[in-house]
Formats: sequence, structure tokens, C-alpha cells
Amino acid sequence: MSTDDSPDADRYVLFGHPVAQSKSPFIHGLFARQLAQAMTYRLVDVGPELFTVTARRFFIDGGAGANVTVPHKTAAVELADELSPEAERAGAVNTLVVRDDGTLLGANTDGIGLLRDLELNLGLSLAGRRVLVLGAGGATRGILEPLLRARPASIHVANRTPTRALELAAAFADLGTIDGGGYADLGNLPPFDLILNATAASLAGEVPPVPVRQFTRDTVAYDLAYARGDTPFTQWARSRGMTQTHKGFGMLVEQAAAAFALWRGVRPDTAPVLEALRSL
Ligand code: NAP
Repeated sequence: MSTDDSPDADRYVLFGHPVAQSKSPFIHGLFARQLAQAMTYRLVDVGPELFTVTARRFFIDGGAGANVTVPHKTAAVELADELSPEAERAGAVNTLVVRDDGTLLGANTDGIGLLRDLELNLGLSLAGRRVLVLGAGGATRGILEPLLRARPASIHVANRTPTRALELAAAFADLGTIDGGGYADLGNLPPFDLILNATAASLAGEVPPVPVRQFTRDTVAYDLAYARGDTPFTQWARSRGMTQTHKGFGMLVEQAAAAFALWRGVRPDTAPVLEALRSL
């Protein structure tokens, strides 16, 4: 979506592959209208081999900022002149900001987006809770620091490839109680209060194999993925008796709002945009 086609409107893009399905132009279009910002936001579908050169060209040509999604979040680290502390720790960038001196800041707003959705939109306090994170990919890298700073009792990362979960747990261990392993290792752990699905399993219509002893009907199930209707994970959770299930629409809108605030210096009201997105 383009929100303002005047020649002096600031230009923003989302780099990804694929990106056609992205809701980000819709979200930023509503933010821009809400705050009367002269800007455009467009999708750029670019594969890994051309990402760096395409992004550099965009900024040389006067682009004001960019979002970055799968599979470029790690490569985007190299584009930035400086990283925010969250992006540095995650080793992943989802937002690039051109600063007043022309240098590029690489930021990661995924974690703060998830936290705002959990704590502000959904009213879930993480303090003292036992949290299970499924998956050890880019999204998990981005969310672990803010999750740990919310002072849960513990975080366990479970992944199909157990070594990745172990590596992540070790990399974040200075921030709180965190460990990791494979799904088979979950068997002896007590039930969790919150299960976050940060895997890409939904894309294959699959659900990670979480054993029945690891949840109760009060366990909250949150899928970072989103879809019209249920995702395979939220459907699985409800069919197992969990009464609170959530999809990642709120995280999507909140991470976008945090990026928008970095670019424009003003923070949009996310509630009407989330409502519009849900009723699309
Ligand atoms: P990623 O870097 O590709 O990581 C994928 C993860 O999923 C890996 O841990 C992988 O395990 C695991 N996985 C893939 N297929 C699986 C399967 N069939 N069964 C079990 N595990 C499987 O992807 P990502 O960037 O972290 O994204 C993960 C999810 O988060 C996606 O659904 C994405 O849409 C969502 N997300 C949402 C938001 C939002 O704003 N709502 C933001 C970011 C991401 P291995 O390590 O064993 O390969």
C-alpha cells in the first residue's frame, strides 16, 4: 500500500522472500493515516543473493527506512552501522532506520512487540511464570531478551534440532533462568503456564510434539504465527482443553508500531489497527 504518492513523501519498504502475503503495508498505511505522516510503504521481494545490494541501493537512493523479514534478518545485521542492544543480542535485525547523520541503525522490535501484546493487550503478567518457547530460529532469538527481562520463573526452549535450543539457552543465560533441548527432553518437566509457538511448523500444517504432561487447561497457548481462523497450533491447544489461545496478530501490529516510532518519532495507537486487521 502506498499512503502518499507526493514526490517528497518518505519512502519505506519491507524486504523479504516471499513478501506478497505481508500485512505490513496495510498496518503502516493505517498508522500513517492516523498520524498524518507523508510516507509510502512498499513490499520488495528479493532473494538472499540480491538482498544486500538491493537494500544498499534503496538507501543510496534516499529510502528513509526498512523492515526486514525472513530470510534476511541475519544478513541485515551487516548492513547496519550500529545495532540496538536487542538486535545485537539477537544477531537479527527487523528494522533499519536512517539517522540524521545518514548512518543506519539496525533494530529488532519483534521482542518488544510480543511483550506489549502479552502484557498490555492480553493482560498476561510473565513475572514468576514458567514459559515454554517452541523453536530456536530467528523469532526466538528476537524474543528471548525481552521475555527474560519480564522476570519469568524460568524459560525452556524446545526445538526439533536440540543443539540450536541449547546454544540459544547458553547465549541468554546471563539474563535469567533458561535452558533448552529437544521435544523428547520435555517429558520430565512440570507443566508450563505459557507456551509460545515460535516455530515455522504451522506453514507445513504441523504442530510441535509437546507431551500432554507439559500443559493444563490453564496454560496459555500463543502462536507467533497468525491466520484467519485457527492456526494448527491454536487448534491443537483448544482440542487439548487449553482455554486461552492467541495468535500473533497483536505481536505483528506492536512490532510494526515500535518500528514506526523509530522511523517517525511518534507512536501510533495500535488498538484500532489491530481491530481492523482482525476483521480483514
Ligand atoms: P525460522 O528462523 O525459519 O525458524 C523456524 C523454527 O521452526 C526452527 O526452530 C525450526 O526448527 C522450527 N521448525 C520448522 N518446521 C518445523 C516443524 N515442522 N516442526 C517443528 N519445528 C519446526 O523462522 P522464524 O523467523 O523464527 O519464524 C518462526 C515463526 O514465527 C513463523 O511462523 C513466523 O511467521 C512467526 N513470526 C511472527 C511474528 C509476528 O510479528 N507475529 C514475527 C516474527 C516471526 P529447526 O531448528 O529444527 O529447523
